[in-house]
Amino acid sequence: MFKKIVIANRGEIALRILRACRELGIKTVAVHSTADRDLKHVRLADESVCIGPPSSTESYLNIPAIISAAEVTDAEAIHPGYGFLSENADFSEKVQQSGFVFIGPKAETIRMMGDKISAKKAMQAAGIPCVPGNGDPLGDNDAVNLRMAQEIGYPVIIKAAGGGGGRGMRTVHTDGALINSIAMTKAEAGNAFGNPTVYMEKFLEDPRHIEFQVLADSHGNAIHLGERDCSMQRRHQKVVEEAPAPGITEEQRKFMGERCAKACVDIGYLGAGTFEFLYEKGEFYFIEMNTRVQVEHPVTEMITGFDIVKEQLRIAAGLPLSITQEQVTFTGHAIECRLNAEDPATFMPCPGTISQFHMPGGPGIRCETHIYNGYRVPPYYDSMIGKLIAHGETRSSAIARMNTALSEIIIDGIKTNIALQKDIMNDPAFALGQQNIHYLEKKLGIH
Ligand code: ADP
Repeated sequence: MFKKIVIANRGEIALRILRACRELGIKTVAVHSTADRDLKHVRLADESVCIGPPSSTESYLNIPAIISAAEVTDAEAIHPGYGFLSENADFSEKVQQSGFVFIGPKAETIRMMGDKISAKKAMQAAGIPCVPGNGDPLGDNDAVNLRMAQEIGYPVIIKAAGGGGGRGMRTVHTDGALINSIAMTKAEAGNAFGNPTVYMEKFLEDPRHIEFQVLADSHGNAIHLGERDCSMQRRHQKVVEEAPAPGITEEQRKFMGERCAKACVDIGYLGAGTFEFLYEKGEFYFIEMNTRVQVEHPVTEMITGFDIVKEQLRIAAGLPLSITQEQVTFTGHAIECRLNAEDPATFMPCPGTISQFHMPGGPGIRCETHIYNGYRVPPYYDSMIGKLIAHGETRSSAIARMNTALSEIIIDGIKTNIALQKDIMNDPAFALGQQNIHYLEKKLGIH
């Protein structure tokens, strides 16, 4: 196992990684911007290195500064967390070239999965069900493109190969709009992602978002830890996640989970990853693979009793998976509510000083957050300030526990989305489960 690693992230995930390191006896180096000196994990880490000014581009995205921090502290590996450089193949490559271990998959895997076209091709080859549409780059032949759209059947979606964060996509409903939409998406993709390549696939109108958690080691073993439902979204951002996904049968879980694990072996995957699917009318359609730990990993941890972050560290250190597929069990139901520092009416980020923080507790409650009394939420980064996770024997007991926790938690001094989360937990349709990805926006009156 490693003796010392760099945590190349901030906020709750940096603290989560620090805790896993402590359990494993690994020393930690926190790297932080000048705005983040007071982060909880920076205070708790064995060492800390300031890597730049508040702007992410000059700090958490500053590759030479992060690698230098690993050099000066004699660390062996770098954990990228999520966001920032976690899915940057160049970073992973430079980390390896500088003699450190990148805690994640190989650079070529990140690169392949970062391009939606090569990811879709790899998944088709590995037998993973994909959204109808061959995934080839669209050329300039209008007649060919029109025929393709008619064959797939409207509505179709034009997607940028290099797109991300819900950008670089356009839905098309008619022949009349197709050619112009392709040209516009190409131009936008060229400007936004430096890659004008686009492709076409079927637009699924009312899908749910269901994803499978996988882990693969460097000895050719891969397992799945079941699925999560992340359909409660606003602007393609997840708001509530849960595991297992309501209505998914044991057979579906086993079938899809095993296919994902097998795909990991086929592509030489290493570490923790997530296969994201749209799920409609009983069918799964692959949309993308996240080659990192995800915000919502705790719901899977709660129902499996398995520590995903510790396993990431073990895998990166070259150890075999610590459990087999047969040893993976699922107990009860877990729900996660993301806590954001945001205006409840406008959803605009609301940074500021936390005058009072009280953490909820009780059976089945887990609170993942870096905030504390007097902590100042800086305005420079993502507005998520923590996550509340509730585990219960059944989905309704998990919801009841979440409700209790939401009524106990106190975060004063800044605006938060706690009221929205209470509203979702008490929503009669949410109580039934199986809502699609448009449900929350419709409820909020956005559509
Ligand atoms: P990104 O990398 O930008 O997050 P994804 O491919 O994961 O892109 O898609 C983001 C979101 O866009 C999905 O969660 C879904 O809401 C929507 N989307 C993408 N592809 C389709 C599709 N074929 N049909 C319907 N919605 C889609």
